[in-house]
Amino acid sequence: MVYSTFKHCLGTSTLVVLAGLACIIILSSLFVQSFKTDVHVRMFYGIMQTIMNHYALAVDLGATNVRVGLVSPAGKIVAKIKDKTPKNGKNGAVVSHRIIGMIREIMTGYPDTRIMGIGISSIGPLDYKAGGPLHSPNIPFQFVPLEEPLRKKFSLPVFLLNDANAAVLAEQRFGAGKNKKNLVYITISTGIGGGAIVDGKLLLGKSGNAAEVGHMIADTAYSIRCSCKKGLGHWEGYASGRNIPKFFKVWAKAHGKKIAVMLPAAKDVFDSARSSNAVAREFLDVLHRVNARAISNIIVAYDPEIITIGGSVMLMNGPVLLAGIKKYVDRYLKLPEIRVTRLGDDIALLGAAAAVFAQRE
Ligand SMILES: [Zn+2]
Repeated sequence: MVYSTFKHCLGTSTLVVLAGLACIIILSSLFVQSFKTDVHVRMFYGIMQTIMNHYALAVDLGATNVRVGLVSPAGKIVAKIKDKTPKNGKNGAVVSHRIIGMIREIMTGYPDTRIMGIGISSIGPLDYKAGGPLHSPNIPFQFVPLEEPLRKKFSLPVFLLNDANAAVLAEQRFGAGKNKKNLVYITISTGIGGGAIVDGKLLLGKSGNAAEVGHMIADTAYSIRCSCKKGLGHWEGYASGRNIPKFFKVWAKAHGKKIAVMLPAAKDVFDSARSSNAVAREFLDVLHRVNARAISNIIVAYDPEIITIGGSVMLMNGPVLLAGIKKYVDRYLKLPEIRVTRLGDDIALLGAAAAVFAQRE
């Protein structure tokens, strides 16, 4: 009776479709309940995302460039465009307008692609409540609205993270941290930043700065002021791309070293050491000790299974810097696996996508 009433209202073919959907839902839930670990659940959802072909839009807002990509659940960047970060305009909205234009440009090539959400990796510091970078020293706007304009324009969920936090998510989902619950990613670039996942959870802290390792104290001998202007002896003030030449000058002066040629950029310091310049080599040994001190602090603070390091300074000088770190890390610490990231320059973009996939599971 009930069946014939439904049949009368809906028709036979509709009933077959509904019955099929019900079977899929029941079987899926039984399948999920039978899983014993998070890994299995994640694998299941990963497979479902791949089958359903749901992609993520990823935005990487840097001081110099802004990049937008379309990323598959397997971490393949199927489309990517790059532009200079806007520096002129009445206010920070000029940046979000440009990003909206870039997203539209990407999507014209993929009009039928289903998008799960938009992930944004941004330079910091971020104001998570306001949804964008606030008082960032590298952008000439007091505030750049990111989250709200993108959510309104595209009616999609938007996830905002600072670049190093995004990068550690990328490492865990697509890189050397796969299936690991404790990992740290460090970027040694113009500045130094970090992201940490501990017991499977991304550490954020009250304002998203729980792993701002660039501002750990790594030296007490030379008293160099950090580029954050907030303290002396911070790791970033010595070992970032911007500050290596400054540290070299301070060190050379303190030890009365005669420098035949000026070394105005980090690249010049590394090149001189490679060409067997004795002063540059001696300095690199001091730099290695500073790096190793900071990495020792990181090992103590986060107890990671693996540390991966990226950023332009590391990507260009990986073997020499890694060897120096391993040589001087505190001997009493059990050294975790330390390596240069395989995800290269795309790590923050992939991290923005990873934030979308992670939040929708
Ligand atoms: Zn600092």
